[in-house]
Amino acid sequence: MKYYVPSPLISFPIWNNAAASWGGLDASLTWVNSGEHIYATNESRGNTVAWTGVTRKKGTVQDPPTPCVGGFFATGQVEVVINWTSVSSYTTAQKQGVAAHEFGHALGLAHNTSSPIKLMYPYDSNRHSAGVTTPQSDDKAGINALY
Ligand SMILES: [Zn+2]
Repeated sequence: MKYYVPSPLISFPIWNNAAASWGGLDASLTWVNSGEHIYATNESRGNTVAWTGVTRKKGTVQDPPTPCVGGFFATGQVEVVINWTSVSSYTTAQKQGVAAHEFGHALGLAHNTSSPIKLMYPYDSNRHSAGVTTPQSDDKAGINALY
């Protein structure tokens, strides 16, 4: 899957590091400057939305169900977004975790609430408590099952 991040953008290295965290799998994320499958960006939405990150059909402004939804756009062009306002208190690793979680959706993964906590667990607070900011073995197994 090819992804594009408009540059210069403050979230650019975060998206790139998040993509790298999905490395070594059957589906890889490659940066391109055109012809992308996934458009990665950030918005400053303040507290007007419930999400810190979202995956949605590119060009739409509607908000999917809380906190985000995925698995529906894997074969089409999608955009992944970080709400830069609501992650302002996050560490860089935690911001990267939000980006990696959204890439997981863009690759086709849904949420996973089974124990232990995985990257595709829906809530940031639980992932942060568990120290999960990168894909776990079950997350990667999910990708390899899809591709
Ligand atoms: Zn999600």
